[in-house]
Amino acid sequence: MAKVESGIQLGRREFIGGAAVGAAVIAANPKPALAAARVSKKADVVIVGAGLAGLTAARRLVAAGRSVIVLEARDRVGGRTLNEPISGSAITELGGEYVGPTQDRILALAAEVNVGTFPVYNTGSNVLIAEGQRSLYPSVPGLPNKRDIAVAIIKGLGLNKEAAKVGVKSPWKAPNAAALDRQTLGDWMNANIPELDAKRVFEAAIHSIWGADAANLTMLYVLFYIASAGDKTNPGNFNRLISVKGGSQQDRFIGGSQVISERVADQLGWSASNHRAKGVRVFGSAPVRKISQSSTGVRVIADGITVDAKQAIVTTPPALAAKISFSPKLPAGKAALLKGMEPGNLTKAEAIYETPFWRLDGLSGQAVSDLDIASVTFDNSPPSGGPGVLFAFIGGTLGDNWTKLSAADRRTAVLENFARYFGPAALEPTRYFEHSWSDEKWSGGCPVAHTKRGVLSKYGKYLRTAHGRVHFAGTETSDYWVGYMDGAVRSGERAASEVKKALRRR
Ligand SMILES: Cc1cc2nc3c(=O)[nH]c(=O)nc-3n(C[C@H](O)[C@H](O)[C@H](O)COP(=O)(O)OP(=O)(O)OC[C@H]3O[C@@H](n4cnc5c(N)ncnc54)[C@H](O)[C@@H]3O)c2cc1C
Repeated sequence: MAKVESGIQLGRREFIGGAAVGAAVIAANPKPALAAARVSKKADVVIVGAGLAGLTAARRLVAAGRSVIVLEARDRVGGRTLNEPISGSAITELGGEYVGPTQDRILALAAEVNVGTFPVYNTGSNVLIAEGQRSLYPSVPGLPNKRDIAVAIIKGLGLNKEAAKVGVKSPWKAPNAAALDRQTLGDWMNANIPELDAKRVFEAAIHSIWGADAANLTMLYVLFYIASAGDKTNPGNFNRLISVKGGSQQDRFIGGSQVISERVADQLGWSASNHRAKGVRVFGSAPVRKISQSSTGVRVIADGITVDAKQAIVTTPPALAAKISFSPKLPAGKAALLKGMEPGNLTKAEAIYETPFWRLDGLSGQAVSDLDIASVTFDNSPPSGGPGVLFAFIGGTLGDNWTKLSAADRRTAVLENFARYFGPAALEPTRYFEHSWSDEKWSGGCPVAHTKRGVLSKYGKYLRTAHGRVHFAGTETSDYWVGYMDGAVRSGERAASEVKKALRRR
């Protein structure tokens, strides 16, 4: 299930996209360029992956006068960001979309390619379902008015102090790093949040942030992540991770986040599948299989195209970097780190309506629930306000179980939840679809990969360390805003600086 759409006919299950399907089509009907002899290219730098990290690095290096080739496995750019057209020029987003204060680097990149922002709809009341009761609370400040739940969130904010001790530069060197890497956020919740409904609401927020259960997130990793939710002058804090106003869900990009990557790729020169195209630096349909290096250079071998360069940058999600064959081999610690980073599992289930009808009832479209499948929702309507779009994050074990249902049952479960929050009109969308990133071959999950127990303290030092001529970027390697688009851009900037220095030395 990469993207499943069940629309007018309940139960109709239609695959309308996805990397796996795309790959099958290419295999059945090889494009002339792919079927032809292997293309060979030379550049100063070869970059693996045309998501925000790879494209940022490429843009920086080209601006510095370096020749660059980017090899992208898919026939599109943007990686974990993806626009879905919904009507006319209106789109909704299936992957990363929100931005907020201190996410300065993605905002700067967007401004450079003329992509503006608009505020997320955050007016009126949010819905809380707890212990079977529906209640409303103001969307600003957005703190549920049930006491035990509010207290749980305030206790979560208490983690900020511990996060500051762990920091963003080298969390593996934090005092008690090994002990913190044995404890989980689940242990912390059991000790600090006794009430079941508060625990479940807290867990719903955790699913939306990491696509993983609290029991699978170590405290060292969680504290690092909280510390990273800021910038050099504004220490990271948990509140930014969960908030709309003043937080990481505050704004969206006009035209959708994927447009940023598309514009950068267009400026660099982009071809979805023609490896012989002229004036192109970013080549799609080029999954990288092998990277070998010697004292004189690095050779990157992708399907249909080989690039010889002086330096390379790998920007794929960690689990996919682990699948590339490196010669000489990666240091054992780096290999263990990549294998020890588990992708989250987060699906967006989206329903389109003629209008955002909930707004007329004074509802923001945001809901959180202690039991339901669609336990966190947002109003994802375009800036014009129409059509109306509601989406739910469905993640962690809850998401695994929901995925096992039939398409019709999944749709019914989500829409019934929407109706419980926003009224019966929610049962009749004009369109309904889901996007599972775990089924996307070239993402393998989302929104971010977390380190398994014991991995960050033991192998974290390999996170950003180059392997000879091969450098590593991608949101997972960032210092600030790990797991976010901003982190991806920051990591691309860091890798570009490393490569510029290395090129000057050689
Ligand atoms: C459902 C969802 C919701 C999210 N919500 C938000 C949000 O609201 N705000 C936010 O800031 N972030 C959010 N994120 C996270 C954000 O999208 C990512 O952090 C960011 O896009 C990662 O960028 P990247 O360049 O590091 O990696 P990617 O986007 O994963 O780019 C890596 C690229 O490498 C390519 N690749 C992989 N393997 C190979 C190979 N072997 N050869 C060649 N190419 C390869 C991939 O196709 C991909 O294009 C969300 C993500 C998802 C999926």
